[in-house]
Amino acid sequence: MTENPFFQPSTLDYELPPFAEIREEHYLPAYERGMAEQLAEIAAITADLSLPTFENTLVALERSGELLRRVDVVFRNQSSSDTTDLLDEVEAKVSPLLAAHHDAIHLDRALFARIEALYGSRTELGLDPESLRLLERRYTGFERSGARLGGAEQARLRELNAELAALGTTFQQNVNAETRANALVLDSAEELAGLSEGAIAGAAENARVLGHEGAYVLSLKNTSGQPELAQLTDRSVRERLLAASLGRGIEANGPIAIRMAGLRAERAALLGYPSHAAYVVADETAGTVEAVSALLARLVGPAVANARREAAELAAAAAADGIGEIAAHDWAYYSEKVRQSSFQVDAAVLRPYFELERVLRDGVFFAANLAYGLSFTERPDMTAHHPDARVFEVFEEDGTALGLFIGDFHARASKRGGAWMDSLVEQSALTGQRPVVLNNLNIPLPAPGEPVLMSWDEVRTLFHEFGHALHGLFSDVRYPLFSGTSVPRDFVEFPSQVNEMWMVRPEVLANYARHHETGEPLPAGLVERMTAAEGFGQGFRTVEYLAATLLDWAWHTVPQGEEIADAEEFESRALAAAGVGVDAIPPRYRTAYFQHVFSSGYSAAYYAYIWSEVLDADTVQWFEGNERPVRESGELFRRELLARGFSRDPLESFRAVVGRAPETEPLLARRGLL
Ligand SMILES: [Zn+2]
Repeated sequence: MTENPFFQPSTLDYELPPFAEIREEHYLPAYERGMAEQLAEIAAITADLSLPTFENTLVALERSGELLRRVDVVFRNQSSSDTTDLLDEVEAKVSPLLAAHHDAIHLDRALFARIEALYGSRTELGLDPESLRLLERRYTGFERSGARLGGAEQARLRELNAELAALGTTFQQNVNAETRANALVLDSAEELAGLSEGAIAGAAENARVLGHEGAYVLSLKNTSGQPELAQLTDRSVRERLLAASLGRGIEANGPIAIRMAGLRAERAALLGYPSHAAYVVADETAGTVEAVSALLARLVGPAVANARREAAELAAAAAADGIGEIAAHDWAYYSEKVRQSSFQVDAAVLRPYFELERVLRDGVFFAANLAYGLSFTERPDMTAHHPDARVFEVFEEDGTALGLFIGDFHARASKRGGAWMDSLVEQSALTGQRPVVLNNLNIPLPAPGEPVLMSWDEVRTLFHEFGHALHGLFSDVRYPLFSGTSVPRDFVEFPSQVNEMWMVRPEVLANYARHHETGEPLPAGLVERMTAAEGFGQGFRTVEYLAATLLDWAWHTVPQGEEIADAEEFESRALAAAGVGVDAIPPRYRTAYFQHVFSSGYSAAYYAYIWSEVLDADTVQWFEGNERPVRESGELFRRELLARGFSRDPLESFRAVVGRAPETEPLLARRGLL
């Protein structure tokens, strides 16, 4: 039997994980050995009889857990982008083990005593700024993980963390199961009127695969809104589709959400915070619950007013169909009508101009060349995690190799929804590793031999995710803790959102948006009309986002001991109290399928997207308004911000680029909220 490929560092270029050798059965043993190895490494640190030094404690801690890191990054990507039943089982087994492992390190009194001693004399150690920050961040991290608590409190903390980890996994698996179970089954093609022929054929094929031969099945996406709602002409079908989406999971996940909110409130109280939200934001750039609440409160009124104005326009369009009042299941449908009649934009007309290969090379890569001087060479000789994923080597302007970029652009049944970036190898001067980053998207695969034609939103997502990739690729730090995208959640979306600006930048757009058959550029005025049409939907989009954010906020500002009887009732009261209870606009995610906050790391942090957008809008204005050549602005943004990762205060990095603290006005202007 061959040795588990995770047990040794990869010998491939850039230490790319040896995907060709990795089998499902390698993960669990690698996790087990990885955790055991790290605990042994920690034990060696604390057994050291010499006085604690920065080297023998902090640096040793940074170097520890290499095997665990190797397996964890590969597993997390694999279980998200190409999962199997076995991987789901491994995930369910491993997540409480990882929570316990985290506790074993952070509640290790001997280890914390060494860190605390060093922290107490930090100004006398003669550390360089990044090393000093490592000491401070580690100290804070241990403190926030309960290192100072007494024995009984630590025991309770371990219980809370273990139960929360297990509940998070159950919540996620319930969402997956209910999302599949609530797919809408339709008997006749007439009910699908309005959808394209391809989409109807897809629904028939979907039905066949799911055992409903002869019927049509519309599978559900993550969000409350479903893309077909914009096209289905039969109002009752729209109503059923939305109801199927909104009704997912409440029986199974409502009680879990209540339990998790209670446990999180208890944990926050244990750690000395009035609520889970207060605990979370204390370590984010926002800092306080009040700062977040103030921004959200400032946005709600104008956003709801915009949405009501949009509703009036939709109602005018719907009146022709004899509909008096716009319901939630009508919104997307009549938005599309208004978009077509008022702005002469038909989303389908754009697709032939957005062919994936062209958008990638002549758009995304081209922009990275303009701003940063990068170039890209595909490496078909290197094996990624799936046959559809492609590996590119990234080079600096002077030809120096920088790292690897892996693009896994296509949807598949085994991939979770949405789009995201992962780091497979994190840059660090300490370990000598160079970055290997990965983007996952969900662009449907076309029929064999057909080109991949993308929607406007998919193009934006490609630029967005590549912004995260650049953050990882440009990382230039010493310690892994600070590498690339390891910044606060309310900062991490900022660089990726900034990268979206290249999509419509004239010189970039002209370079990539060409008809895939004729090579013709986009018809004059189309992009301007599209941008204007997007402005029209801002009211709806802002309200549905804010509703989800305020829902997350409500669940996590609950003080310890407050009983919640019913999740749905809590949800509707919270939305009404926050002023975002607009009947026709459901939150982007309802409680029962809000995976960001109940099963991935965004509890009390869904606000991060709009918080980051403040920085984004401000920075885009700086990019467009300053006198420097683009290449110079890009270089400044790279050196002072992207390259720094979390090795200094992110807001200091922002100031180093823009020259002042962030301002909110550019965001308000962009979202039509002034
Ligand atoms: Zn993002």
